[in-house]
This record gives sequence, C-alpha cells and structure tokens, in this order.
Amino acid sequence: MPCDLHMHSTASDGTDAPEALAPLAKAAGLEAIALTDHDTTAGLPVCAAACQAAGVGFVPGIEISADITALKSPLPPSSTEPIRLGTLHILGLFVRHDDAELERIHQRLLAARLERNPRIIANLQALGVAIEYDEVLELTQSLGTRIVGRPHIAQVLVKKGYVKTVQDAFARYLGEGKAAYARKDTLAPRLAIEAIHHAGGLAILAHPMQLRAGSAAQLEHIVTRLKDLGLDGLETRHSDHAAADVERYQKLAEKLGLLVSGGSDYHGSRKSIPLGGQNVPAAVYENLRQAWRAGF
Ligand code: AMP
Ligand code: ZN
Ligand code: FE
Ligand code: FE
Repeated sequence: MPCDLHMHSTASDGTDAPEALAPLAKAAGLEAIALTDHDTTAGLPVCAAACQAAGVGFVPGIEISADITALKSPLPPSSTEPIRLGTLHILGLFVRHDDAELERIHQRLLAARLERNPRIIANLQALGVAIEYDEVLELTQSLGTRIVGRPHIAQVLVKKGYVKTVQDAFARYLGEGKAAYARKDTLAPRLAIEAIHHAGGLAILAHPMQLRAGSAAQLEHIVTRLKDLGLDGLETRHSDHAAADVERYQKLAEKLGLLVSGGSDYHGSRKSIPLGGQNVPAAVYENLRQAWRAGF
C-alpha cells in the first residue's frame, strides 16, 4: 500500500478538515499520511487521533516557507534566472506539535503573512480589482484558519468573477513576479531546519522543482548548502515532478547521502491534485521512520 507524506488541511490552505483526511486516506488505500500544513502544527492532534481510529499510519508534519535568496546569492548572476524567482519550502516530518521553537517560528511566519497580505490587496486595488482584505478574512475565519494565504485571496477573486479558477488567479496576479505579487519569505533556512530539529523532526526539502534552479549544478549547490545547514532529505516524488525529475532527485539524494520522501501536496478542492496521487511506496515511509527512530 502506498503512502502520502505531503498534504494540507483547513489548518492552512487545504479545503478538508484535518480529521477528514484520515477516512479519505483509508478510502484511497494509503498505509500512512503526513499532514504538513504551512507554518502551523494546529491540525496535527485531531488528525493523529482520526488516523489512529481509521488504522492509517500518521506522521506529524509541517511545511515552513524560507528565504531562498539566502542560498542563491553566492551563485554567479544569470540573466535567465533572476534570484527573486523560486520557492524554498522545508518539510518537517515527525515533529512534536507543541515544540516551543516551532511555535516561535509559527508566530514569526504569522506576522510575515499579516504584513504581506495587505500589500497584495493594495497591489490588486491599484490594478483596478475591487477587493477588500476583510473579504479574505471573512473566508478564512469561516474556515477556521489563521494561516491566510494567496490561495484564499485567489478564491475570493474567483468568487468575485475576476478570474475563472484559482490557477488563473496565480497566473494573472498572485504568482511570483506577477502584477500583485508581494514577497513574505524572509526566514533564514538555517532557522527553519533548526526549529524542525528542535521539535525532534527530520528536515526535508519540499518539491525541489520549485526552487527553479537554473541548472543541475545550481541545484546541487543549493541542496549541498542546505545539507550543510542540517537538511536530512529530499522530496523526490511530488505532483510537480515528472518521472525524469524524480529520477534526477533520487540520484542527487543518493550522491549527497540524503533521505528520500514523497507526497502529493494535496490541498483538497482548491487544486486538482488527488490524495495519494504520487503512489509513494510504503518503503519510503518505513525508511524515514527508521531513520528518525535511529536519530538520523
Ligand atoms: P502563500 O504561502 O500565501 O504565499 O501561498 C502559497 C501557496 O499558494 C502554495 O503553498 C500553494 O498552495 C499555492 N500556490 C502557489 N503557486 C500556485 C499556482 N501557480 N497555482 C495554484 N496554487 C498555487
Ligand atoms: Zn499551500
Ligand atoms: Fe510547498
Ligand atoms: Fe505543500
């Protein structure tokens, strides 16, 4: 039976309640899941209980947004790859949900969102889009999350008819480098990795594809720097990765002595990615659990 070690709930920007993921995982025939909400561990306790009741293995996780420019700046400037592009997300797997360091990071990332979101709204208004921040907060309050993000803004834009889909909202307004984009990720990768370790977890580089490294050499440079900071593994299987990418990342993990993880990055109905869609072998889960137990 496969596993799925990357997904989101309504505790961040997914559309399923954390406790609803367990029966879905059971129905999808999954051996184990990891809940990896953005910047928060709030959904972990109820998801853990629901997984136990459903007989699904559970990995308590988190996905932390970090500052990619901290890693790219020593690279030679490249006209084809402006350094503002690309996303650095670090997964924590097997974390304690109530760790004090993780809570500190959570508070800091929450503050970064509160500072960034009104800038996006102001950018949209300057583009002639009639949207108020309160409309976004109304939506997230009804969903019960404090992690207010671009997917929520996108949903309001869809509802108001400015775009057809959430994907369109990113392509036109909200994606990196688009007209209403505003950056928030200023957390040093070292601090993200240290907090995950403080919480007893493994630090895994999420979807390496989204780094948008300009070449294999740049990718290896970035991953090596992360490894020097304590990174434990690479997410090789992910919905953004084609079969050839998975192979590339597996080889890199092997070369650098890193663990391997994989997951769908399921967000519920806000994206068209099925739960368990990556068919990650259960051995990936077993290996990670073994490494974690052995104090990798
Ligand atoms: P935020 O953390 O508020 O900056 O929002 C980032 C989240 O937006 C990601 O975790 C994805 O869930 C979602 N996202 C990013 N890019 C896209 C895209 N092109 N299409 C749809 N969703 C996206
Ligand atoms: Zn997300
Ligand atoms: Fe991510
Ligand atoms: Fe994710």
